[in-house]
Amino acid sequence: MKLIILDRDGVINQDSDAFIKSPDEWQPIRGSLEAIARLNQAGYRVVVATNQSGIARGLFDMQALTAIHQKMNSAAQLVGAEIDAIFFCPHAADDNCDCRKPKAGMFHDIARRFDISLRGGVVTVGDSLRDLQAGFIAGCAPYLVLTGKGEKTCEKGGLPPGTLIYPDLSAAVDFILKKPVELAV
Ligand SMILES: [Zn+2]
Repeated sequence: MKLIILDRDGVINQDSDAFIKSPDEWQPIRGSLEAIARLNQAGYRVVVATNQSGIARGLFDMQALTAIHQKMNSAAQLVGAEIDAIFFCPHAADDNCDCRKPKAGMFHDIARRFDISLRGGVVTVGDSLRDLQAGFIAGCAPYLVLTGKGEKTCEKGGLPPGTLIYPDLSAAVDFILKKPVELAV
């Protein structure tokens, strides 16, 4: 099974320092949903792993998050894309949970849910250092996109070894789909 793990804000949709609190505030990045459709067509299952500390902060509730994800899934379906699952961490940084990135809890949960090893070439795409750190710890190949916080993340440096950098999700997917499929050892 081919699987890819995407961050949400700044990768699929426009990020906001004020958080994405409602479906209206969720606006796709140009080409991102079409890129997910191309992954699906190539046999990839696409999973989202996203920190949503706005819930712990009381900025929005689970009902709003569900509505945001319904909008994302509907927009994806309109272009023939399907997001298989959305894993999210609702906690704040000081909750000390295992799921908030840069910890790898969500990645381990995804590996269990899909009964797959993330080592051996499963790609994760993010715009923040913590996205890439979490994926790297779990054994994924980290890809940084320059949308969202990506430019700043790139400037700060300290990326996990082997991180590849692309302008946006669409460009990253173009590369992934041209690459010969690696056999997991
Ligand atoms: Zn958490």
